[in-house]
Amino acid sequence: MSRILIIGAGGVATVCAHKVCQNRDVFTEVMIASRTKSKCDALAKVLNEKYGTNVQTAQVDADSVPALVQLLSSWKPVLVINLALPYQDLTIMDACLECGCNYMDTANYEPKDEAHFEYSWQWAYRERFEKAGLTAILGCGFDPGVTSVFTAYAAKHHFDAIEYLDIVDCNAGNHHKAFATNFNPEINIREITQKGLYWENGRYIETEPMEIHKPLNYPNIGPRESYLLHHEEIESLVINYPTIKRARFWMTFGQQYLTYLDVIQNIGMSRIDEVEYEAPLADSMANGQCSMVKVKIVPLQFLKAVLPNPQDLGENYEGETSIGCRIRGQKDGKEHTYYVYNNCSHEAAYRETGMQGVSYTTGVPAMIGAMMFLTGKWAKPGVHNVEEFDPDPFMEQLNKQGLPWHELFDVDIEL
Ligand code: NDP
Repeated sequence: MSRILIIGAGGVATVCAHKVCQNRDVFTEVMIASRTKSKCDALAKVLNEKYGTNVQTAQVDADSVPALVQLLSSWKPVLVINLALPYQDLTIMDACLECGCNYMDTANYEPKDEAHFEYSWQWAYRERFEKAGLTAILGCGFDPGVTSVFTAYAAKHHFDAIEYLDIVDCNAGNHHKAFATNFNPEINIREITQKGLYWENGRYIETEPMEIHKPLNYPNIGPRESYLLHHEEIESLVINYPTIKRARFWMTFGQQYLTYLDVIQNIGMSRIDEVEYEAPLADSMANGQCSMVKVKIVPLQFLKAVLPNPQDLGENYEGETSIGCRIRGQKDGKEHTYYVYNNCSHEAAYRETGMQGVSYTTGVPAMIGAMMFLTGKWAKPGVHNVEEFDPDPFMEQLNKQGLPWHELFDVDIEL
Protein backbone atom coordinates (compact mmCIF):
# COMPACT_ATOMS: atom_id res chain seq x y z
CA MET A 1 0.00 0.00 0.00
CA SER A 2 1.47 3.37 -1.02
CA ARG A 3 -0.35 6.25 0.58
CA ILE A 4 0.89 9.66 -0.53
CA LEU A 5 0.13 13.31 0.18
CA ILE A 6 0.56 15.98 -2.49
CA ILE A 7 0.84 19.50 -1.03
CA GLY A 8 -0.18 22.29 -3.44
CA ALA A 9 -2.92 22.40 -6.06
CA GLY A 10 -1.31 24.60 -8.71
CA GLY A 11 -0.15 23.81 -12.25
CA VAL A 12 2.64 21.40 -11.29
CA ALA A 13 0.53 19.60 -8.67
CA THR A 14 -2.29 19.19 -11.20
CA VAL A 15 -0.02 17.42 -13.70
CA CYS A 16 1.62 15.30 -11.00
CA ALA A 17 -1.81 14.25 -9.68
CA HIS A 18 -2.95 13.22 -13.19
CA LYS A 19 0.16 11.10 -13.59
CA VAL A 20 -0.23 9.59 -10.12
CA CYS A 21 -3.79 8.56 -11.01
CA GLN A 22 -2.55 7.03 -14.27
CA ASN A 23 -0.21 4.80 -12.23
CA ARG A 24 -2.55 3.30 -9.68
CA ASP A 25 -0.52 0.12 -9.39
CA VAL A 26 2.09 2.24 -7.56
CA PHE A 27 0.01 4.96 -5.92
CA THR A 28 -2.85 3.30 -4.11
CA GLU A 29 -4.14 6.11 -1.86
CA VAL A 30 -3.82 9.80 -2.67
CA MET A 31 -4.63 13.01 -0.84
CA ILE A 32 -4.18 16.54 -2.21
CA ALA A 33 -3.91 19.29 0.43
CA SER A 34 -3.34 22.97 -0.11
CA ARG A 35 -4.07 26.42 1.27
CA THR A 36 -7.31 26.78 -0.71
CA LYS A 37 -9.34 23.59 -0.30
CA SER A 38 -11.78 24.45 -3.10
CA LYS A 39 -8.91 24.13 -5.61
CA CYS A 40 -8.07 20.66 -4.23
CA ASP A 41 -11.74 19.65 -4.43
CA ALA A 42 -12.06 20.84 -8.04
CA LEU A 43 -8.94 18.92 -9.02
CA ALA A 44 -9.99 15.75 -7.17
CA LYS A 45 -13.39 15.87 -8.90
CA VAL A 46 -11.74 15.93 -12.34
CA LEU A 47 -9.36 13.12 -11.38
CA ASN A 48 -11.98 10.89 -9.78
CA GLU A 49 -14.28 11.27 -12.78
CA LYS A 50 -11.53 10.70 -15.33
CA TYR A 51 -9.67 7.84 -13.66
CA GLY A 52 -12.27 6.32 -11.32
CA THR A 53 -10.02 7.10 -8.35
CA ASN A 54 -10.93 8.15 -4.83
CA VAL A 55 -8.55 11.10 -4.33
CA GLN A 56 -9.04 12.78 -0.93
CA THR A 57 -8.56 16.46 -0.16
CA ALA A 58 -7.72 18.63 2.83
CA GLN A 59 -6.95 22.22 3.73
CA VAL A 60 -3.51 22.96 5.17
CA ASP A 61 -1.36 25.98 5.80
CA ALA A 62 2.05 24.58 4.91
CA ASP A 63 3.80 27.53 6.58
CA SER A 64 2.67 26.07 9.90
CA VAL A 65 4.46 23.00 11.27
CA PRO A 66 1.67 22.22 13.79
CA ALA A 67 -0.98 22.34 11.04
CA LEU A 68 1.14 20.03 8.88
CA VAL A 69 1.79 17.66 11.78
CA GLN A 70 -1.94 17.43 12.44
CA LEU A 71 -2.61 16.51 8.82
CA LEU A 72 0.30 14.07 8.47
CA SER A 73 -0.52 12.29 11.71
CA SER A 74 -4.10 11.75 10.63
CA TRP A 75 -3.50 10.77 6.95
CA LYS A 76 -0.18 8.98 7.65
CA PRO A 77 1.32 9.14 4.16
CA VAL A 78 4.47 7.17 3.32
CA LEU A 79 5.65 10.04 1.14
CA VAL A 80 4.86 13.77 1.02
CA ILE A 81 5.29 15.39 -2.41
CA ASN A 82 5.80 19.10 -1.83
CA LEU A 83 4.44 20.99 -4.84
CA ALA A 84 3.60 24.17 -2.96
CA LEU A 85 6.21 26.93 -3.04
CA PRO A 86 9.91 26.89 -2.08
CA TYR A 87 9.04 28.95 1.03
CA GLN A 88 7.37 25.86 2.54
CA ASP A 89 10.24 23.37 2.06
CA LEU A 90 11.60 23.56 5.61
CA THR A 91 8.27 23.52 7.45
CA ILE A 92 7.22 20.46 5.44
CA MET A 93 10.56 18.73 6.10
CA ASP A 94 10.18 19.48 9.84
CA ALA A 95 6.68 18.00 9.87
CA CYS A 96 7.87 14.92 7.92
CA LEU A 97 10.56 14.31 10.53
CA GLU A 98 8.07 14.67 13.35
CA CYS A 99 5.57 12.27 11.75
CA GLY A 100 7.96 9.74 10.19
CA CYS A 101 7.14 10.58 6.53
CA ASN A 102 9.49 10.61 3.55
CA TYR A 103 9.77 13.85 1.57
CA MET A 104 10.21 15.06 -2.01
CA ASP A 105 10.16 18.50 -3.72
CA THR A 106 10.94 20.25 -7.01
CA ALA A 107 12.58 23.50 -5.90
CA ASN A 108 15.05 24.36 -3.16
CA TYR A 109 14.22 26.44 -0.11
CA GLU A 110 14.04 30.18 -0.43
CA PRO A 111 13.25 32.60 2.43
CA LYS A 112 10.31 34.88 1.65
CA ASP A 113 12.16 38.07 2.53
CA GLU A 114 15.32 37.33 0.53
CA ALA A 115 15.44 36.40 -3.18
CA HIS A 116 18.14 33.84 -2.62
CA PHE A 117 18.11 30.07 -3.05
CA GLU A 118 20.70 27.50 -2.11
CA TYR A 119 20.71 23.93 -0.82
CA SER A 120 22.52 24.57 2.49
CA TRP A 121 19.26 25.00 4.41
CA GLN A 122 17.94 21.62 3.26
CA TRP A 123 21.29 19.81 3.34
CA ALA A 124 21.39 20.75 7.04
CA TYR A 125 18.62 18.13 7.55
CA ARG A 126 20.80 15.24 6.29
CA GLU A 127 21.71 13.76 9.64
CA ARG A 128 18.19 14.02 11.04
CA PHE A 129 16.63 12.23 8.04
CA GLU A 130 19.35 9.61 8.07
CA LYS A 131 18.92 8.93 11.80
CA ALA A 132 15.15 8.68 11.36
CA GLY A 133 15.61 6.21 8.48
CA LEU A 134 13.71 8.60 6.18
CA THR A 135 14.47 9.68 2.61
CA ALA A 136 14.25 13.24 1.33
CA ILE A 137 14.58 13.68 -2.45
CA LEU A 138 15.38 17.26 -3.47
CA GLY A 139 14.70 18.96 -6.78
CA CYS A 140 12.72 16.37 -8.74
CA GLY A 141 11.12 18.51 -11.46
CA PHE A 142 12.70 19.07 -14.89
CA ASP A 143 15.35 21.61 -14.04
CA PRO A 144 16.34 20.76 -11.39
CA GLY A 145 15.35 17.15 -11.72
CA VAL A 146 15.55 15.58 -15.17
CA THR A 147 18.61 17.71 -16.05
CA SER A 148 20.42 16.25 -13.02
CA VAL A 149 19.31 12.71 -13.96
CA PHE A 150 20.50 13.35 -17.55
CA THR A 151 23.90 14.32 -16.13
CA ALA A 152 24.01 11.20 -13.94
CA TYR A 153 23.06 9.06 -16.96
CA ALA A 154 25.81 10.66 -19.07
CA ALA A 155 28.37 10.07 -16.31
CA LYS A 156 27.26 6.45 -15.88
CA HIS A 157 27.13 5.44 -19.56
CA HIS A 158 29.06 7.84 -21.75
CA PHE A 159 31.95 9.53 -19.92
CA ASP A 160 34.87 8.72 -17.64
CA ALA A 161 34.96 12.39 -16.69
CA ILE A 162 32.44 15.14 -17.42
CA GLU A 163 34.37 18.38 -17.88
CA TYR A 164 31.95 20.92 -19.36
CA LEU A 165 28.24 20.92 -18.60
CA ASP A 166 25.73 23.34 -20.14
CA ILE A 167 22.07 22.94 -19.23
CA VAL A 168 19.92 24.54 -21.92
CA ASP A 169 16.26 25.38 -21.37
CA CYS A 170 14.22 26.70 -24.29
CA ASN A 171 10.54 27.52 -24.23
CA ALA A 172 9.60 28.15 -27.85
CA GLY A 173 5.91 28.24 -27.02
CA ASN A 174 3.48 31.10 -27.56
CA HIS A 175 0.62 31.66 -25.08
CA HIS A 176 -0.65 34.78 -26.90
CA LYS A 177 -0.51 36.96 -23.76
CA ALA A 178 1.46 40.21 -23.66
CA PHE A 179 3.27 39.05 -20.53
CA ALA A 180 2.87 35.94 -18.40
CA THR A 181 5.13 33.59 -16.49
CA ASN A 182 4.99 29.83 -16.96
CA PHE A 183 5.02 28.94 -13.30
CA ASN A 184 4.30 30.83 -10.10
CA PRO A 185 5.00 34.48 -11.12
CA GLU A 186 6.45 35.48 -7.77
CA ILE A 187 8.97 32.61 -7.71
CA ASN A 188 9.73 32.97 -11.43
CA ILE A 189 10.42 36.73 -11.36
CA ARG A 190 12.55 36.41 -8.20
CA GLU A 191 14.62 33.75 -9.99
CA ILE A 192 15.30 35.50 -13.26
CA THR A 193 15.99 38.99 -11.90
CA GLN A 194 18.88 37.65 -9.78
CA LYS A 195 22.50 38.01 -10.78
CA GLY A 196 23.84 35.26 -13.06
CA LEU A 197 26.23 32.70 -11.59
CA TYR A 198 28.27 29.86 -13.05
CA TRP A 199 31.02 27.50 -11.99
CA GLU A 200 34.47 27.62 -13.57
CA ASN A 201 37.78 26.15 -12.42
CA GLY A 202 36.74 25.54 -8.85
CA ARG A 203 34.88 28.78 -8.13
CA TYR A 204 31.65 30.61 -8.83
CA ILE A 205 31.67 33.59 -11.17
CA GLU A 206 28.91 36.18 -10.79
CA THR A 207 27.50 38.21 -13.70
CA GLU A 208 24.96 40.99 -13.93
CA PRO A 209 21.41 39.68 -14.59
CA MET A 210 21.12 38.53 -18.24
CA GLU A 211 24.63 39.89 -18.98
CA ILE A 212 25.86 36.83 -20.88
CA HIS A 213 23.76 35.62 -23.78
CA LYS A 214 24.11 33.99 -27.18
CA PRO A 215 21.91 32.31 -29.78
CA LEU A 216 21.75 28.53 -29.46
CA ASN A 217 20.09 26.08 -31.82
CA TYR A 218 17.40 23.87 -30.32
CA PRO A 219 16.20 20.65 -32.00
CA ASN A 220 13.03 21.10 -34.06
CA ILE A 221 12.97 24.78 -33.02
CA GLY A 222 16.03 26.55 -34.41
CA PRO A 223 18.06 29.42 -32.98
CA ARG A 224 16.88 31.20 -29.83
CA GLU A 225 18.70 33.84 -27.77
CA SER A 226 19.75 32.08 -24.56
CA TYR A 227 20.72 33.83 -21.32
CA LEU A 228 23.04 32.61 -18.60
CA LEU A 229 21.18 32.35 -15.28
CA HIS A 230 21.98 31.13 -11.80
CA HIS A 231 20.15 27.82 -11.38
CA GLU A 232 20.05 25.55 -8.36
CA GLU A 233 21.13 22.21 -9.83
CA ILE A 234 24.60 23.60 -10.64
CA GLU A 235 25.30 23.75 -6.88
CA SER A 236 24.88 20.02 -6.27
CA LEU A 237 26.15 18.80 -9.66
CA VAL A 238 29.61 20.38 -9.30
CA ILE A 239 29.93 18.70 -5.89
CA ASN A 240 28.71 15.30 -7.07
CA TYR A 241 30.80 15.44 -10.28
CA PRO A 242 34.09 17.03 -9.17
CA THR A 243 35.67 16.56 -12.64
CA ILE A 244 33.41 19.36 -13.94
CA LYS A 245 35.56 22.32 -14.93
CA ARG A 246 32.70 24.55 -15.99
CA ALA A 247 28.95 24.32 -15.40
CA ARG A 248 26.42 26.81 -16.69
CA PHE A 249 22.66 27.14 -17.12
CA TRP A 250 21.00 28.87 -20.09
CA MET A 251 17.38 29.86 -20.61
CA THR A 252 15.71 31.45 -23.63
CA PHE A 253 13.66 34.65 -23.40
CA GLY A 254 11.92 36.60 -26.14
CA GLN A 255 12.61 40.31 -26.55
CA GLN A 256 9.05 41.26 -25.57
CA TYR A 257 9.30 39.31 -22.31
CA LEU A 258 12.59 41.03 -21.45
CA THR A 259 11.16 44.48 -22.22
CA TYR A 260 8.22 43.88 -19.87
CA LEU A 261 10.55 42.51 -17.21
CA ASP A 262 12.71 45.62 -17.50
CA VAL A 263 9.68 47.86 -16.99
CA ILE A 264 8.47 45.76 -14.04
CA GLN A 265 11.86 46.15 -12.38
CA ASN A 266 12.28 49.85 -13.21
CA ILE A 267 8.92 50.81 -11.75
CA GLY A 268 9.55 48.83 -8.56
CA MET A 269 6.97 46.09 -9.10
CA SER A 270 9.53 43.30 -8.59
CA ARG A 271 10.30 44.55 -5.04
CA ILE A 272 9.87 41.89 -2.35
CA ASP A 273 9.95 44.26 0.64
CA GLU A 274 6.75 45.70 2.13
CA VAL A 275 5.55 49.12 1.04
CA GLU A 276 2.83 51.13 2.73
CA TYR A 277 -0.29 51.70 0.67
CA GLU A 278 -3.15 53.99 1.68
CA ALA A 279 -6.49 52.41 0.85
CA PRO A 280 -10.07 53.57 1.46
CA LEU A 281 -11.81 51.74 4.30
CA ALA A 282 -14.70 49.87 2.65
CA ASP A 283 -17.32 50.50 5.37
CA SER A 284 -16.57 54.22 5.51
CA MET A 285 -17.28 54.53 1.77
CA ALA A 286 -20.76 53.09 2.31
CA ASN A 287 -21.43 55.84 4.87
CA GLY A 288 -20.54 58.50 2.35
CA GLN A 289 -17.36 59.47 4.21
CA CYS A 290 -14.09 58.18 3.00
CA SER A 291 -11.62 57.22 5.76
CA MET A 292 -8.26 55.91 4.69
CA VAL A 293 -6.35 53.01 6.19
CA LYS A 294 -2.65 52.23 5.79
CA VAL A 295 -1.94 48.67 4.61
CA LYS A 296 1.34 46.98 3.83
CA ILE A 297 1.74 45.22 0.50
CA VAL A 298 4.63 43.47 -1.24
CA PRO A 299 4.71 44.81 -4.84
CA LEU A 300 5.70 41.46 -6.40
CA GLN A 301 2.86 39.66 -4.58
CA PHE A 302 0.45 42.32 -5.80
CA LEU A 303 1.79 41.90 -9.35
CA LYS A 304 1.16 38.13 -9.10
CA ALA A 305 -2.47 38.87 -8.32
CA VAL A 306 -2.95 40.79 -11.58
CA LEU A 307 -0.81 38.70 -13.96
CA PRO A 308 -2.32 35.76 -15.85
CA ASN A 309 -2.46 32.59 -13.77
CA PRO A 310 0.06 30.12 -15.32
CA GLN A 311 -2.60 27.42 -14.87
CA ASP A 312 -4.85 29.25 -17.35
CA LEU A 313 -2.29 29.54 -20.16
CA GLY A 314 -2.69 26.02 -21.52
CA GLU A 315 -5.72 26.47 -23.75
CA ASN A 316 -4.07 28.73 -26.32
CA TYR A 317 -0.49 27.65 -25.84
CA GLU A 318 1.25 26.57 -29.06
CA GLY A 319 4.75 25.27 -29.67
CA GLU A 320 7.13 23.28 -27.54
CA THR A 321 9.82 23.32 -24.90
CA SER A 322 13.26 21.80 -25.37
CA ILE A 323 15.39 21.19 -22.30
CA GLY A 324 18.60 19.22 -22.13
CA CYS A 325 22.24 18.88 -21.20
CA ARG A 326 25.15 19.58 -23.53
CA ILE A 327 28.22 17.85 -22.20
CA ARG A 328 31.89 17.67 -23.16
CA GLY A 329 34.29 15.30 -21.44
CA GLN A 330 36.63 12.33 -21.65
CA LYS A 331 35.91 8.71 -22.53
CA ASP A 332 38.74 6.21 -23.04
CA GLY A 333 41.29 8.99 -23.32
CA LYS A 334 39.42 10.89 -26.03
CA GLU A 335 37.26 14.03 -25.92
CA HIS A 336 33.57 13.51 -26.74
CA THR A 337 30.42 15.59 -26.81
CA TYR A 338 26.93 14.46 -25.88
CA TYR A 339 23.56 16.19 -26.04
CA VAL A 340 20.56 14.63 -24.30
CA TYR A 341 17.22 16.43 -24.39
CA ASN A 342 13.45 16.25 -24.32
CA ASN A 343 11.05 18.31 -26.42
CA CYS A 344 7.56 18.70 -24.97
CA SER A 345 4.53 20.03 -26.83
CA HIS A 346 2.32 22.50 -24.97
CA GLU A 347 -0.74 21.33 -26.92
CA ALA A 348 -0.17 17.67 -26.08
CA ALA A 349 0.38 18.52 -22.39
CA TYR A 350 -2.88 20.50 -22.36
CA ARG A 351 -4.85 17.73 -24.05
CA GLU A 352 -3.71 15.23 -21.44
CA THR A 353 -3.82 17.27 -18.23
CA GLY A 354 -5.37 20.69 -18.94
CA MET A 355 -2.00 22.34 -18.14
CA GLN A 356 0.76 23.82 -20.33
CA GLY A 357 4.15 22.26 -21.06
CA VAL A 358 6.13 23.90 -18.25
CA SER A 359 3.80 22.49 -15.58
CA TYR A 360 3.86 19.17 -17.47
CA THR A 361 7.65 18.92 -17.66
CA THR A 362 7.79 19.52 -13.88
CA GLY A 363 4.82 17.43 -12.71
CA VAL A 364 5.71 14.28 -14.68
CA PRO A 365 9.24 13.95 -13.17
CA ALA A 366 7.76 14.63 -9.72
CA MET A 367 5.49 11.61 -10.18
CA ILE A 368 8.39 9.51 -11.51
CA GLY A 369 10.58 10.47 -8.52
CA ALA A 370 7.77 9.41 -6.18
CA MET A 371 7.41 6.16 -8.14
CA MET A 372 11.17 5.56 -7.84
CA PHE A 373 10.92 5.96 -4.08
CA LEU A 374 7.79 3.86 -3.60
CA THR A 375 9.11 1.00 -5.73
CA GLY A 376 12.32 0.93 -3.67
CA LYS A 377 14.61 2.08 -6.49
CA TRP A 378 15.45 5.43 -4.92
CA ALA A 379 15.03 4.74 -1.22
CA LYS A 380 18.11 5.77 0.76
CA PRO A 381 17.83 7.41 4.19
CA GLY A 382 19.15 10.96 4.27
CA VAL A 383 18.67 14.08 2.14
CA HIS A 384 19.66 13.57 -1.49
CA ASN A 385 19.74 15.39 -4.80
CA VAL A 386 18.39 13.29 -7.63
CA GLU A 387 21.76 12.69 -9.36
CA GLU A 388 22.77 10.64 -6.29
CA PHE A 389 20.39 7.85 -7.32
CA ASP A 390 20.53 5.33 -10.19
CA PRO A 391 19.40 7.26 -13.30
CA ASP A 392 18.44 4.20 -15.39
CA PRO A 393 14.96 3.33 -14.03
CA PHE A 394 14.02 7.03 -14.02
CA MET A 395 15.17 7.46 -17.65
CA GLU A 396 13.12 4.39 -18.61
CA GLN A 397 10.00 5.91 -17.04
CA LEU A 398 10.52 9.28 -18.77
CA ASN A 399 10.01 7.46 -22.07
CA LYS A 400 6.87 5.73 -20.79
CA GLN A 401 5.27 8.65 -18.97
CA GLY A 402 5.23 11.30 -21.69
CA LEU A 403 8.70 12.87 -21.70
CA PRO A 404 10.73 10.87 -24.22
CA TRP A 405 14.39 11.83 -24.53
CA HIS A 406 16.87 11.81 -27.38
CA GLU A 407 20.64 11.57 -27.58
CA LEU A 408 23.14 13.10 -30.00
CA PHE A 409 26.76 11.97 -29.93
CA ASP A 410 29.84 13.94 -30.98
CA VAL A 411 27.87 16.81 -32.47
CA ASP A 412 28.68 20.53 -32.32
CA ILE A 413 27.22 21.55 -28.96
CA GLU A 414 27.92 25.27 -29.63
CA LEU A 415 29.22 25.83 -26.09
P1 NDP B 1 1.38 27.54 -8.29
O1 NDP B 1 1.50 28.91 -7.75
O2 NDP B 1 0.52 27.27 -9.48
O3 NDP B 1 0.89 26.54 -7.13
C1 NDP B 1 1.38 26.60 -5.83
C2 NDP B 1 0.38 25.91 -4.94
O4 NDP B 1 0.88 25.92 -3.60
C3 NDP B 1 -0.99 26.60 -4.91
O5 NDP B 1 -1.99 25.62 -4.92
C4 NDP B 1 -0.94 27.35 -3.58
O6 NDP B 1 -2.18 27.54 -2.96
C5 NDP B 1 -0.14 26.39 -2.74
N1 NDP B 1 0.43 27.07 -1.59
C6 NDP B 1 1.14 28.22 -1.56
N2 NDP B 1 1.43 28.55 -0.29
C7 NDP B 1 0.89 27.60 0.49
C8 NDP B 1 0.84 27.38 1.89
N3 NDP B 1 1.41 28.23 2.76
N4 NDP B 1 0.19 26.28 2.35
C9 NDP B 1 -0.42 25.41 1.50
N5 NDP B 1 -0.40 25.56 0.16
C10 NDP B 1 0.25 26.64 -0.33
O7 NDP B 1 2.89 27.05 -8.56
P2 NDP B 1 3.39 25.98 -9.63
O8 NDP B 1 2.49 24.81 -9.60
O9 NDP B 1 3.66 26.68 -10.90
O10 NDP B 1 4.80 25.57 -8.99
C11 NDP B 1 4.87 24.68 -7.90
C12 NDP B 1 6.32 24.44 -7.51
O11 NDP B 1 7.04 23.89 -8.59
C13 NDP B 1 7.08 25.71 -7.10
O12 NDP B 1 7.85 25.42 -5.96
C14 NDP B 1 7.99 25.97 -8.28
O13 NDP B 1 9.17 26.64 -7.90
C15 NDP B 1 8.29 24.56 -8.71
N6 NDP B 1 8.76 24.44 -10.11
C16 NDP B 1 9.84 23.64 -10.36
C17 NDP B 1 10.31 23.49 -11.65
C18 NDP B 1 11.40 22.52 -11.94
O14 NDP B 1 11.61 22.20 -13.12
N7 NDP B 1 12.12 21.98 -10.97
C19 NDP B 1 9.71 24.23 -12.77
C20 NDP B 1 8.50 24.96 -12.42
C21 NDP B 1 8.08 25.08 -11.12
P3 NDP B 1 -3.18 28.73 -3.42
O15 NDP B 1 -3.85 28.18 -4.63
O16 NDP B 1 -4.09 28.94 -2.27
O17 NDP B 1 -2.31 29.92 -3.72
